[in-house]
Amino acid sequence: MDRLIIIGGGIIGGSILYHLYKNGYRGRAVIIEEMDAPAQGSTSLSAGGFRNIWSTEVNMKLTTYSIKRFSEAEKEFGVSIGFDQRGYLFTFYEDNFDMIKEFKPNWDNAGVRTEILTPENIEKMVPGLHTSLEHLDPEIVEFLELKPIAGGLLGLDCGIVNPTPLAVAYIEKTKEMYPELVEIKLKTHVDRIIFEGGRAKGVIANSEVIEGDIVVLAAGAWSAKILEDSGIPEEQNIPVVPLKRMLYVVNPPEIEGVLNIPFTIIDKGVYFRPEAMNWLVGKAKEEQEPGFDTEPEKDYYEEFINYIMQARIDGAEYCRIQSMWGGLYAHNTKDKNGIVSFHPDFENLFLATGFSGHGVMEAPGIGQSVSEFLLKGKFETIPEVSQLDYKRFRENKLVKETIVI
Ligand SMILES: Cc1cc2nc3c(=O)[nH]c(=O)nc-3n(C[C@H](O)[C@H](O)[C@H](O)COP(=O)(O)OP(=O)(O)OC[C@H]3O[C@@H](n4cnc5c(N)ncnc54)[C@H](O)[C@@H]3O)c2cc1C
Repeated sequence: MDRLIIIGGGIIGGSILYHLYKNGYRGRAVIIEEMDAPAQGSTSLSAGGFRNIWSTEVNMKLTTYSIKRFSEAEKEFGVSIGFDQRGYLFTFYEDNFDMIKEFKPNWDNAGVRTEILTPENIEKMVPGLHTSLEHLDPEIVEFLELKPIAGGLLGLDCGIVNPTPLAVAYIEKTKEMYPELVEIKLKTHVDRIIFEGGRAKGVIANSEVIEGDIVVLAAGAWSAKILEDSGIPEEQNIPVVPLKRMLYVVNPPEIEGVLNIPFTIIDKGVYFRPEAMNWLVGKAKEEQEPGFDTEPEKDYYEEFINYIMQARIDGAEYCRIQSMWGGLYAHNTKDKNGIVSFHPDFENLFLATGFSGHGVMEAPGIGQSVSEFLLKGKFETIPEVSQLDYKRFRENKLVKETIVI
């Protein structure tokens, strides 16, 4: 391998670039990004949450590894990435809580540190939150389809991180270390990948032909579109669609301690966590249609998310929007997990996409794993990453992740 092309300058493309050189690659590489700076796509629009609480082993392993690497990143790169292990708190109704208690030994065995919480523990941890529904009008309870919170699960190693400086560091530090070998092409749109004789010969970007031995597709929510524009038919494309997700910065309730809470998930997957002196709030919209629209919807917060917050948290009616944005999940419609392998029909096209809302928290592990695969032909640090092979869609070996918010 002498020249590698990486399409996409987000945290995934950046981490792959960095880890390749960290692990000994000394050929040339070009990373192509259409925006005028690295990491301005989904990476900078994310909520920055990380957790190793998952239902699948591969996600537990990838995130546990990545959390350790986040914790070392400030030393590794000399930049602040806002690493904050404030915990991740899932709250549950009775039926799900029973399942969680049953599943807990799996986390214990995998080294994922969790704690089961009673409703009283939860109320102490999130000031102003009511786990029961006694304070509410029964009509509201029925309308919002609420049930009492029976308990919670706290992920002790989980928390939040600022992915943008990390992604930028991955790309810029690699360039600094290997200026002769690494090329960063910004403001460069990949029109298509050139396929010839079952291989990816290179790409056409801003009308220029760039050839390489291996093409890594790390273009997040745009990956399937690039393959489509390159003439790949649907049956050979990846099952990944762009799906809008929205975030709202709101002022927090006026209660002492609300800025010390963990990343908290309540009814229907509404989540919130401190963001400087505010709260960052989100909730995946169930009826969201795939597409490239990223317009944030004020009404969705004011007429849905905030109603749920009001029902649970004292003073949440005063949590007003300060700013808001929408971004895109690279949503894998088959099993909500990344695709990390060569494409079975194009021997030198490597796919690293489809991370469905957990790409930031897996990025260090993905970079390390992809570099191992490209340099040594196997996933050494996290062998389970082999389960994310594209072939799983054809062989019906889906890796279904059930804990996705
Ligand atoms: C609202 C929201 C909240 C999220 N919250 C979390 C969270 O809490 N935790 C978490 O782990 N993940 C979260 N995610 C998901 C996370 O942001 C992604 O999984 C992650 O950023 C994926 O990184 P990436 O490098 O694959 O994609 P991106 O960061 O999108 O990078 C892909 C890059 O490719 C470039 N590109 C696309 N097409 C082309 C082309 N034709 N030519 C050249 N360049 C191109 C884009 O400009 C982009 O910079 C969230 C996402 C959203 C939208």
